[in-house]
Amino acid sequence: MQMSYTPKPLYVIYDVTLACNASCIHCYSHAGKPLPNELTTEEGHKLIDELADAGTLLLGFGGGEALLRKDCFDFMQHAHDRKMLTNVATNGILVNQKTARRLKEVGIQAVTVSIDSTQPALHDYIRQVPQLFQKACDAVKCLKDEGIKVLIGFTPMSHNYKEREEIVRMALDLHADTVNVSEYVPTGRFGTTIALTADELKETMAAWVQLEKKYRDRIRITWHDCRAAILIPEIGSAAKTGCGAGRTTCRIAADGTLYSCPLLPIPCGNVRERGFRYLWENAPLMLGLRDRSNLKNNCGCCDKKEVCGGCRAVAYANYGDLFEGDPECWYKPMEYIPAAAAAETKSHEPLIQIEPLRRLSEKNDK
Ligand code: SF4
Ligand code: SF4
Repeated sequence: MQMSYTPKPLYVIYDVTLACNASCIHCYSHAGKPLPNELTTEEGHKLIDELADAGTLLLGFGGGEALLRKDCFDFMQHAHDRKMLTNVATNGILVNQKTARRLKEVGIQAVTVSIDSTQPALHDYIRQVPQLFQKACDAVKCLKDEGIKVLIGFTPMSHNYKEREEIVRMALDLHADTVNVSEYVPTGRFGTTIALTADELKETMAAWVQLEKKYRDRIRITWHDCRAAILIPEIGSAAKTGCGAGRTTCRIAADGTLYSCPLLPIPCGNVRERGFRYLWENAPLMLGLRDRSNLKNNCGCCDKKEVCGGCRAVAYANYGDLFEGDPECWYKPMEYIPAAAAAETKSHEPLIQIEPLRRLSEKNDK
């Protein structure tokens, strides 16, 4: 069903630079060096004003490593002054007591520190930086000493998805406030090679749902997975959104390119040229994502599609068509509907034809 109104971009990520001091295997933005044409300080401020005017509630600063950009604190202060909640995601390398104090001064609401394993060697491997596990733990301590809310960002992949309760216990030991579990989407450096299968994903999500129940008096556990509504019906009936790409969320890259989701690498235009609001309200891809009758196959015929919608980035990474059925979903709606109805499921040419990422990565491997 098509949305009958333009939704507000409630949660926006602004990747302030592509520069990064790590080289994570699951990085969605292939970060490393800064882009030659990143938004200037003035342009960044203008963008923040536009986001505030468009009704953004939470502005997340990311990268690359956002803290590498010197004016990042000015951006945070400006967003805070414009009454948005702010968050910054960091690998922890640059967070010492002085940085933590500065983050507090500019009104940051929370900091997400990525820790992908309780085993130091595995975390360091995933992030490709020696001793990073210890740095990340030290960063959490500095932030907590300043009274800043800390989320431990954990992404289950084939290497680490069996670590669950260990992650929660580590977060408790570090006095973190939340464990935020993010779905791995195979648009990063290692593509589908480190993605979970549908069964592994189901087992993982079910285990985290149980952990949330077990630990809810001691720590918050949240997740980003549109399919959560299959396991927890209350989520679906309360939020009625599922995948937020182009509906409640979007990402602006360091050069001003607008994407419907941090993990969906199809540009919707550049805020430098058309302004944020125009693109949010008019870009064909944004409009397409707001109409779930565009979905195909298992997602197209699914009775959960209004509360879930499938991960459009996973569909795109696997098929090169962001409206395809989500191949990582364990729910099998096709088995529950008559074959004739399944055959009528809407199937059309993709709105945007782009060479599938998988094929691109295969080419790069040669
Ligand atoms: S088939 Fe698609 S819409 Fe249905 S539950 Fe799975 S991912 Fe969600
Ligand atoms: S495409 Fe949707 S479900 Fe997938 S990561 Fe983006 S917002 Fe989340």
